[in-house]
Amino acid sequence: MTGPRVGVLALQGDVREHLRVLRELGADAVPVRRPDELDAVAGLVLPGGESSVIDKLSRAFGMQAPIRAAIAAGLPVYGTCAGLILLADRIEGGIEGQESFGGLDVTVRRNAFGSQTESFETELDVPAVGPDPVRATFIRAPVVASVGPSVEVLARVGDDIVAVRQGALLGTAFHPEISGEVRFHRLFLEAVAGR
Ligand code: GLN
Repeated sequence: MTGPRVGVLALQGDVREHLRVLRELGADAVPVRRPDELDAVAGLVLPGGESSVIDKLSRAFGMQAPIRAAIAAGLPVYGTCAGLILLADRIEGGIEGQESFGGLDVTVRRNAFGSQTESFETELDVPAVGPDPVRATFIRAPVVASVGPSVEVLARVGDDIVAVRQGALLGTAFHPEISGEVRFHRLFLEAVAGR
């Protein structure tokens, strides 16, 4: 049995790490760069990297409008870090002219942990993925500064929201794909299966 075909947006960022986790979980995971490749997947991961670069490349490659349309049509999407920024309806601290795909009714604040804490690892309590703590890696990470009424908060660091879900859309400010944590990708694949 082969799992569902899902894509990882492969314009910039840690694409391979996501492909590896998704394949480990049994999915038929493929890189997505073109609209016809997007049409062929039942779910999409937006990787970590540099959100302003992925934004620009997605427009240059003619991918912004197809991804927005797919999100509006209910495609399950999981964004990590830069991918979370790309899923957010509102961005604080974006570069001049930076856009997002949107879909998640949240405001994200880029690089929210400041230059003193460029990156760090911590353990998070995330009941939505189970009782065992999540080992989370944050790299120039954003936080979710505010959420709309239909957004479920899945995890916080102190007071800062770092994981959210809204219907078939999932976003984490950290990178489970580089710390051996597979449960968020499993949640994403459950949304794909349930569609
Ligand atoms: N700071 C990056 C951005 O704004 C995100 C960093 C990451 O994805 N690790 O896009």
